[in-house]
Amino acid sequence: MPELPEVETIRRDLEPLVTGRSVVDVEVDPGTIGLLAGVPLEVLRANLVGRTIRSLGRRGKYLLFELDDGRWLVVHLRMTGRLVWRPRAAPPEAYQRAVIRLDDGHDLRWSDLRKFGTWRIHASAGEVIDRLGPEPIDAGLSEAAFCRVLAGRRAPVKAVLLDQRRFAGLGNIYVDEALYAARIRPDTPAGDLSRAAMGRLYRACREVLERGIAHRGASFRDYVDGQGNEGQQHMFVQVFRRTGKPCYACGTPIARSIVGGRATHYCPRCQRAARRPRRASEARVAGEEGRDAG
Ligand code: ZN
Repeated sequence: MPELPEVETIRRDLEPLVTGRSVVDVEVDPGTIGLLAGVPLEVLRANLVGRTIRSLGRRGKYLLFELDDGRWLVVHLRMTGRLVWRPRAAPPEAYQRAVIRLDDGHDLRWSDLRKFGTWRIHASAGEVIDRLGPEPIDAGLSEAAFCRVLAGRRAPVKAVLLDQRRFAGLGNIYVDEALYAARIRPDTPAGDLSRAAMGRLYRACREVLERGIAHRGASFRDYVDGQGNEGQQHMFVQVFRRTGKPCYACGTPIARSIVGGRATHYCPRCQRAARRPRRASEARVAGEEGRDAG
């Protein structure tokens, strides 16, 4: 599934190609019901045709097309969505489901094998982005603010990182990679992490996302950039989908488990729990439990 680095790569590719262009037509395959969430195609057309694209932004995993009437076309790729720029005469894409025709003879073509992707018109971008947490790569996100989001939470740290209301943009690939880089077990309760471990995780999240952008995203399966080309990041992963293969640092086979409902890859040796020291009261209770258990 495309995550922040993949969506940002698409945004950077398409932004100079679509900014200032007008929409002359929109077509959506009648079998692609979910794309518009029940909004009739005529309504989408009425909202888009004749509009000029003012800018193309991104927040989390959402692409935000700003229209010249102040509305927004908000696109989410979900599992297998692709958005590529092509000359009108180019042959259709595999699994092509929808097309936005631009006034310069080019198309924005939407293909989606699984059909979970979404296009929505919003009166303001805030309707989407106000629900999202900060992005780990936000220049304005301090280490202290990052740690405050984790503090006190009982959920596994992996689940907190995946929750878009806490942090926007991370998904399964980059969370597994960041937890490996920070040497933290994915199932550790977020609030149990030591302050030092949280600091390592803060830096690791930024590093893996920035590296993913530098490598133009990870193409394990379906992701392609705005020109239809694969990214490179999948060749540089340390743990994601490397189950049973030796850890690059210690040689231990990479383990796979389920955390937060998602397949999770980690090194059992390099990724210790990294818990904060227990307070005396907690240690005493734990000790008594230990004696009772015999
Ligand atoms: Zn290891």
